[in-house]
Amino acid sequence: MNDLPLNPIRYQHYRELPDAFYEETQPMAVPAPKLIALNKRLLEAEGIAADWFESEAGLALLSGNADYENTPIAMAYSGHQFGHWVPLLGDGRAHMLGQMHNADGEPIDVQLKGSGRTQFSRGGDGKATLGSMLREYIVSEAMHGLDIPSTRSLAVISTGEKIMREGVQPGGIVARTARSHIRVGSFQYAAASQGEEGVKALADFVIAHYFPALAESPDKYADLLRTVAEAQASLIAQWMLVGFIHGVMNTDNMSVVGETIDYGPCAFMDEFHPNKVFSSIDRHGRYAWGQQPNIAVWNLTQLASMLLPLMDADAEKAEAIARQQLDAFAPAFHAAFNTGMAKKLGLDTDVSEGDIVSLSETTLGALTESSIDYTLFFDRLTRVAAGADAAPLLAMFNNPAKAEAWFKQWSDIKSDDTEVIKTMRHSNPAIIARNHRVEEAIAAAEQQDDFAPFQRLCAALLNPYEIAPEDADLQSPPTPQERVTQTFCGT
Ligand code: AMP
Ligand code: MG
Repeated sequence: MNDLPLNPIRYQHYRELPDAFYEETQPMAVPAPKLIALNKRLLEAEGIAADWFESEAGLALLSGNADYENTPIAMAYSGHQFGHWVPLLGDGRAHMLGQMHNADGEPIDVQLKGSGRTQFSRGGDGKATLGSMLREYIVSEAMHGLDIPSTRSLAVISTGEKIMREGVQPGGIVARTARSHIRVGSFQYAAASQGEEGVKALADFVIAHYFPALAESPDKYADLLRTVAEAQASLIAQWMLVGFIHGVMNTDNMSVVGETIDYGPCAFMDEFHPNKVFSSIDRHGRYAWGQQPNIAVWNLTQLASMLLPLMDADAEKAEAIARQQLDAFAPAFHAAFNTGMAKKLGLDTDVSEGDIVSLSETTLGALTESSIDYTLFFDRLTRVAAGADAAPLLAMFNNPAKAEAWFKQWSDIKSDDTEVIKTMRHSNPAIIARNHRVEEAIAAAEQQDDFAPFQRLCAALLNPYEIAPEDADLQSPPTPQERVTQTFCGT
């Protein structure tokens, strides 16, 4: 009896929030759940035993089929979607099961996505395709492999259901973990539904659970805004340094703890262009690669305006305080981006900010002009820095004279220090979750019930800075036939 594994998801701290923030709701049972992936590595790293999740009861819990003693909740939030205000969004196909605690006692949210209708579903069916859940698993774990803050994927389940999207597709559920599921849109919802009192309750909750160091500060709400702004600045710089485009940076998809959240139509770009967009629904390039810092500030401005009444009773003073906190974004972003670029370029540590910016701009300009593959370029550059022949790198430019000029500018300030080159290697992934490989893995799973390409891709992305000879095909950019130019939300 005693050695039966215990469900580690034992808390539901969102219940401390006023009732209006969530709705108790049961996931919908599914006919034939099958465990496609269980992320034992994640559990191991957090010091949580995997045995519960491998038990029959654990699988039932991950698939929506359990008798949930601790009633799951769907959380309410609002949001600006592509700039348009939507007063009530909320978890329309997700169920927060609660928190488990890692070995350090930190809470980890466990949420099912694709687990059925809730009161927030509007016209939706509450379901997700197996393909889009595999996509979330692959890309969120790839982000983690790149050391970029992200929600993670604990498991993927195929439900045995057929659901209607573009045609009939197999249904799936992802169990997602996160430090928090509070979004900028949660604050917008608090203000819209409960006014200042609701915003205060939410801000106090966020400080108590995620930023306890701010609790005693006399300016804790201004500090909260600054902390969120700086976390986002660092996050978005990290995205951009690996060529990541989130694709749907609506305020409801921006986490206040600075984790990447909501992997819908996201993508890593192949050939570099600052205006690159993949999302099928981003018709005007609002969330293009180079737009991401501006959009983050736009979103943070929404958060700031919700927090205004807490910062000062005098509206003018409150606005000045808010502006000061938002002003922290730009320097934090530029510092993170420029430091990251210096590492990617393998520059000497005493190179000036001006020289870093100048070389970054020339490099990105040349990549744009010659349509050079972003990841492959920096991988080859790393190899050249480590002593390899420069010819394959220079051959990527469409103009030999420009290639020479660029190479000279780089050679003048690049480092020969082995430590710098080690850091350079660790800043330039050899493998990213290339769109065509992600789509290929999804197609094999959906159409042939073959999960080997999914497993193989996930395994390679765990350590993206090294590449096994047999994985060379995962590194290559797409051929014209393989190219995937659009990604879909899968909602
Ligand atoms: P997203 O663009 O994925 O962040 O989703 C925006 C909103 O649409 C959220 O409130 C989701 O819960 C909701 N939603 C997305 N897909 C579905 C679906 N299939 N059924 C119900 N609600 C959905
Ligand atoms: Mg969302």
